[in-house]
Amino acid sequence: MKKLRLFTPGPTMVPEDVMLEMARPMEHHRTGFYRDMYKEVHELLQYLFQTQASCPIFTGSGTSAMEGVIVGCCPPGHKALVVQNGKFSERWTKVCQTFGIDHTVLELDWGFGAKADHIRAAMDADEKIDTIIVVHSETSTTALSDVESIAKLSRERDALLLVDGITAVGAIPVKMDEWGVDTYVTGSQKALMLPPGLGLAAVNDRAWSRIDSGTMPTLYNDLKAYRKSLETWDAPYTPALTLVRGLLHVLRGIKERSLEAIWAETSMLAEGTRAAAEAMGLKVFATDTVDSVTAILMPESVDEGALRKTMRSKFGFQIAGGQGSLKGKIIRFSHMGYVDAFDTIGAIAALEMALTQQGYGMRIGAGVSAATAIFADKMK
Ligand SMILES: *Cc1c(COP(=O)(O)O)cnc(C)c1O
Repeated sequence: MKKLRLFTPGPTMVPEDVMLEMARPMEHHRTGFYRDMYKEVHELLQYLFQTQASCPIFTGSGTSAMEGVIVGCCPPGHKALVVQNGKFSERWTKVCQTFGIDHTVLELDWGFGAKADHIRAAMDADEKIDTIIVVHSETSTTALSDVESIAKLSRERDALLLVDGITAVGAIPVKMDEWGVDTYVTGSQKALMLPPGLGLAAVNDRAWSRIDSGTMPTLYNDLKAYRKSLETWDAPYTPALTLVRGLLHVLRGIKERSLEAIWAETSMLAEGTRAAAEAMGLKVFATDTVDSVTAILMPESVDEGALRKTMRSKFGFQIAGGQGSLKGKIIRFSHMGYVDAFDTIGAIAALEMALTQQGYGMRIGAGVSAATAIFADKMK
């Protein structure tokens, strides 16, 4: 059996103690067992999102929670602005189209994050916009949006701000209440180091009053049903309680370590990886780089597909390629969850080996050396 190290930006590696926790015998969910568990999970989710808002747990991947939030917060009579700067933000436009939500799209070049100025201009041009949909960390392009200043603008304009934080929450600073974000969403298989299957949301009172103000054609992801069951620490349909059990274990660990320590480690891994890429004569793709995942441009001479195949089948490192127009052009390394400096040094070494085998000219060890110097300094 070969060792596989997952460096994809979701799913990410699941720690052994989390897997063991989820291997325990099944329980029933309409019981004190589930209510007590959800109560504690809820308190810890509020810590994770840095909020006092309520936190429904959707059975489904991150998309289910984001769809529920968009549909709930955009009933007829409201208009959304979707900032589209990559593959995932395109999906939120698709949700608007699917449900007939009045919306307008603000397109940004890939590799750039959303900023308050972009949104201010779009809102000045269309007074009907009262809902802003932004991806905090656009995993497909590895671009970071300035959520704090966008939230400030949304307060000034009395608009709701819905943020896809799927590769932000638990990886990079997220301060929902301090910034004034109305809904944040994440999924279990990214920074939370769990298998896929949970969509996690935080929904504040401003968002709930919008949700209550209208009716939309939705059932399974209907936030109104989630809110009702939240009152008794229950779920509207059978929850994925095995995953919730794993979630409790993970969140206790995150609280114990502290978010600040996790944010600092993610940032260090990203800095080391970016420095390694440069030392190898490669270019980091994004302009507004995010720390949860790094995209590196592949030189024309390198066969990106073959490179990733070598890294996986020969060296045991699964990394991600590009999506959409970036397919074949970039490779991506995750810095989220159960991954540390030494795993990352290994991934950089594997990249150096795969590149060298393809005839790419570089001094072997250059990337490892650059990253190691940074980790040695930060881990004093
Ligand atoms: C992974 C991801 C999603 C999609 O989540 P699923 O869990 O696959 O539904 C959405 N947005 C971002 C930014 C992501 O990284």
